[in-house]
Amino acid sequence: MNSIIRIAVQKSGRLSDDSLALIKECGIKFYNGTGKLKSTSTNFPIEFLFLRDDDIPGYVSDGVADLGIVGENELVEKDKDVDILKKLGFSKCRLSLAIPKGQEYTNIHYFQGKSVATSYPKILGDYLSKYNIQAEIHEISGSVEIAPSIGLAEGICDIVSSGSTLMMNGLKEVEEIFKSEAVLIAHKNLSEDKLAIVEKLLFRMNAVQKGKSNKYVLLNAPNESLEKIIQLIPGMRSPTILPLAQEGWSSVHSVISEDQFWENIEELRAAGAEGILVVPIEKMVV
Ligand code: ATP
Ligand code: MG
Repeated sequence: MNSIIRIAVQKSGRLSDDSLALIKECGIKFYNGTGKLKSTSTNFPIEFLFLRDDDIPGYVSDGVADLGIVGENELVEKDKDVDILKKLGFSKCRLSLAIPKGQEYTNIHYFQGKSVATSYPKILGDYLSKYNIQAEIHEISGSVEIAPSIGLAEGICDIVSSGSTLMMNGLKEVEEIFKSEAVLIAHKNLSEDKLAIVEKLLFRMNAVQKGKSNKYVLLNAPNESLEKIIQLIPGMRSPTILPLAQEGWSSVHSVISEDQFWENIEELRAAGAEGILVVPIEKMVV
């Protein structure tokens, strides 16, 4: 029998575009017309379920889906038993405690005996009990930031990105309690057949991620500085050196992480490198 795996992704929201982009960059083709809840790839044994992100941890732990892409915040809050295969590096955000701007904040003990509104009662409860703080947690599903101004709670715990929503509601961030990014999760105990497909998918995702964090660098350099330049941009095995038409000069091609490139740029130029080009890499298999 030909196996197929099923992956749950967010239907629409702050996870969905990057989730689908990653899958496309893995060379996996599929159709996701508006309103479709299910789709099958035409060139890889994978089927998609488009869901609300709240439901993804449960579907994966139940085995209705074999894989899922979800935020760590949602995963930890739902407290489902699944394997985390990979951090994906997008949908980065933080969960923070916030209080009315005019209040003076000392430390986490500020919240002793206070009421806090949140959509993340488990994460917040765990955090507060770590500090032995008893607070009254009001679970609400949305528009958490208006809770203090309507008298529902004295503070809130919610996702913060820029902080502008907090400011508009007269609140200030006082404590970061959880950092989150999107993760690829898997059902525990997948069959051998399914695991083999998951391995193939992971191989492709790793190649895409590696490609993104590295750049292809081309530069011209006088031959006498080649030794120094090779040390600065050692590449995957070693750089490619090609002679230029102009005598005494070479073109050096290499692969380097973007961070390392910026760290080494001054030294490269000091060594005589010029005409430096930095080109994106689509996939990288080492
Ligand atoms: P759904 O309708 O699927 O339940 P939602 O309204 O619960 O969606 P979104 O706002 O789409 O959720 O956010 C999905 C996830 O994206 C969050 O759980 C969080 O992990 C992450 N996220 C939330 N806000 C941001 C942000 N400002 N920047 C980056 N990532 C974010
Ligand atoms: Mg949700």
